[in-house]
Amino acid sequence: MKIIDIINQSDKTVFSFELLPPLKGQNADKLYRTIEELLDFDPKYINITTHRDEMEYRMLPNGLLEKRTIRKRPGTVAIAASIQNRYNVPVVPHVVCGGFTKEETENMLLDLNFMGINNVLALRGDKLKSESIFKPEPGGHAYANELVKQIVDLRQGKYIDPDLKNNTPMDFCIGVAGYPEKHSEATNPDVDLINLKRKVESGADYIVTQMFFDNQKYYDFIDRCRAAGINVPIIPGIKPLSLKNQVSVLPGIFSIDIPEEFAKEVRKCKNNEDARQVGTEWAIAQAKDLVAHNVPCLHIYTYGISDNTKQIAKAAF
Ligand code: FAD
Repeated sequence: MKIIDIINQSDKTVFSFELLPPLKGQNADKLYRTIEELLDFDPKYINITTHRDEMEYRMLPNGLLEKRTIRKRPGTVAIAASIQNRYNVPVVPHVVCGGFTKEETENMLLDLNFMGINNVLALRGDKLKSESIFKPEPGGHAYANELVKQIVDLRQGKYIDPDLKNNTPMDFCIGVAGYPEKHSEATNPDVDLINLKRKVESGADYIVTQMFFDNQKYYDFIDRCRAAGINVPIIPGIKPLSLKNQVSVLPGIFSIDIPEEFAKEVRKCKNNEDARQVGTEWAIAQAKDLVAHNVPCLHIYTYGISDNTKQIAKAAF
C-alpha cells in the first residue's frame, strides 16, 4: 500500500519508524529483533536508509596510505524487500542522488518495483566526509527535486533510454525531506522553503521532517509551508536522544537546536544510561503532544534501538 493512501485513509495519527541496514559483516538478526519488538504497536510502514560509498585511507605497514572505497551498510534493496515480505508491512527504502548515476538509480528502482515495493523517500544525500561541498556523481542528480522528476517520469513509463518504448510504468509513492530548522546549506529559511516547494511541484506526495526537539519548530514550519502553498502531508520525524554527548553533537550534524531546558537535564546525567532515560522522557512528551495535535504519522528514528522507541510508542498511542 502507498504511504500517501495510508495517511489519507487514517483519521488518527499512525506510527512508523526508520531503520539502518546492518553493517557489512553482520547478518540481519538484530534488525529483525528490533522490528519484532515494535510490531505490537502496529507500524504502518518502515523506512530503510541508504548509505553511499565512502572513501577511507588506511595506513599500510610500509607507512604509505591506501585509499579504499567502502560501503559500510550495503543492501538497502534486499533488506527492504525481506522486511516487507517477512512482516507484511510496507517499506520505504531511501533513494539518494549522491554516489549514484541516473542509470544506477533507474536500476535500483527497477529492482524495487520487481520486488513489489512502491514507496520511496527521494533524497540528495550528504556530502562525502572528505569533501567540503556536495558533489553530484557524474551522470547523477545534483538535487533531490531532479531525482523526484526521474521517479515521476518512471511513473509514466518514461525511462532514460529514449529508444525504450511501451514501457511498464513504475508507480511509486514519493516522500521527500523537509527541515523545520532549515537545511544546513540553505542560505536562509525562505530559500529552503522555495527548494522544498520545488520538490513537491516536481511530484512528491508527502514530506517527512528532519528530527527536532522543540515541537513549536514543527508547528511553525507547517504554518510557513502552508503559507507558501505547500499542501502535502508533513510527517514529523523525532529521534530519542540516546547518548549524553548527542546534546552537543546533534546540533552540529543536523543544524538543529536543542532547547536549554532539555540540554540542562542531559548535562546533569552521570552516564549514557541516565541520558537515555531523560532523552526517552523528552521524546515521549514530544510524541504525546504531536499525537494530541493529530499529526498524520509519528515517525521515529530508531537507529536500530527498540527499547526507547517501544516506550515512546506505548505512551503515545
Ligand atoms: P535537497 O532537497 O536537494 O536540498 C539540499 C540543499 O540544496 C538544501 O539546502 C536546499 O535548500 C538546496 N536545494 C534544493 N534544491 C535546489 C535547487 N534545485 N537549486 C538550488 N538549491 C537547491 N542521507 C543519506 O545519505 N541516506 C539516507 O538514507 C538519508 N535519510 C534521510 C531521511 C530524512 C527524513 C532526512 C530529513 C534526511 C535524510 N538524509 C539521508 C540526509 C539528507 O540526504 C541530507 O540532509 C542532505 O544534505 C539533503 O538532502 P535533501 O534530499 O533534503 O536535499
